[in-house]
Amino acid sequence: MKNIAILGSTGSIGTQTLEVVRNNREELRVVALAAGSSVDMMEQQIREFRPLLAAMWYEEAAADLRARVSDLEVKVLSGMDGLLEIASMPESQVLVTAIVGMIGIRPTIAAIESGKDIALANKETLVTAGHIIMPLAKKCGVSILPVDSEHSAIFQSLNGEPKDKIEKILLTASGGPFRGRTKEQLVNIRVEDALKHPNWAMGRKITIDSSTLVNKGLEVMEAKWLFGVDLDRIQVVVHPQSIIHSAVQYEDGAIIAQLGVPDMKLPIQYALFYPDRRPMRGERVDFFRLGSMTFEEPDIETFTGLKLAYEAAAAGGSMPTVYNAANEKAVALFLDRKIGYLQIPELIGEAMEQHRLIPDPNVDEILSAEAEAYAFIDARVK
Ligand code: NDP
Repeated sequence: MKNIAILGSTGSIGTQTLEVVRNNREELRVVALAAGSSVDMMEQQIREFRPLLAAMWYEEAAADLRARVSDLEVKVLSGMDGLLEIASMPESQVLVTAIVGMIGIRPTIAAIESGKDIALANKETLVTAGHIIMPLAKKCGVSILPVDSEHSAIFQSLNGEPKDKIEKILLTASGGPFRGRTKEQLVNIRVEDALKHPNWAMGRKITIDSSTLVNKGLEVMEAKWLFGVDLDRIQVVVHPQSIIHSAVQYEDGAIIAQLGVPDMKLPIQYALFYPDRRPMRGERVDFFRLGSMTFEEPDIETFTGLKLAYEAAAAGGSMPTVYNAANEKAVALFLDRKIGYLQIPELIGEAMEQHRLIPDPNVDEILSAEAEAYAFIDARVK
């Protein structure tokens, strides 16, 4: 039996992780759940999975939850203390990080220091603090197991192969709903249009990020840290069918890829059972029905979010944090219909331009670079 704790259990990755648990009841046990404010769903999850600990970010939500589940044994926590207690609880072996944003950094560090393996969906943690997380994981002897479908594909394609034989990583991208459009055609994009992803059903923020290619930019940085590969060896390949989830090209020219229907439950399950594979029901890729797969170069002049990501990654230090935080804020403003679609990459670029780089930031410096980027965007938009 493997005991797992989930941060972000009410979200898209969190609920799919629980679906994987449902399908593997004999082998997986949920010992803790954490969410932001979704008390109704959290109550249902507690009643079904009976964790030892639960946490809500907001104390008010935690108080409400505490009253609702007072008939059960579960202890209800709140705030960062709650996330940290869950991250380091002795009963868990794996922490699934499925929350959005840099809020995941401290709990991830706490879990690593307590010897837990990390099933990592919360890419912002690696993008902004990869230089802290990866060496720490190595020092503590824990595994960082990717949940992101592309990184899981790379991880699966690397299985058993030495990392020093990698020539390049081929990171695939669907291209999002606006692939092929010009900048002029993006000016009037509405929130509803950007929330329609062609192949994947995901949380709102990451769906917008997929449409701007900022998500791919974050994934480039995530891949750099996870696989220890230089930026110039990570190539983004637009593949609209999302069947090849990513690939590794080796020094002898061989390309090993992982293919499958777009379903996050596979990478989640792979991370939870690694190195084992387990049966999973569901649709299969049928090459005859699929007919063809196509590939394109990304259009980084139109989707400047990807270009800016390479620039942020090349600058290093606190710049990826500014890239990520400016994007987070800009996306929230776009979802609130306060800015236009193209202002998202514009604001990221402006925030990066005015930032004074910190070369090797610690966690406090990362969080203050985040706050600085938020404040810059707020002032700029007002
Ligand atoms: P969602 O927005 O669907 O879910 C976010 C989850 O985090 C919710 O459970 C939310 O709780 C919780 N949460 C938010 N803020 C806090 C907080 N301060 N404290 C505790 N919990 C909090 O996001 P996704 O599932 O789409 O994405 C999660 C992460 O996984 C992101 O980093 C994303 O980039 C990454 N990812 C997602 C993929 C996907 O397919 N969705 C694919 C690959 C990576 P509440 O419901 O109460 O707000």
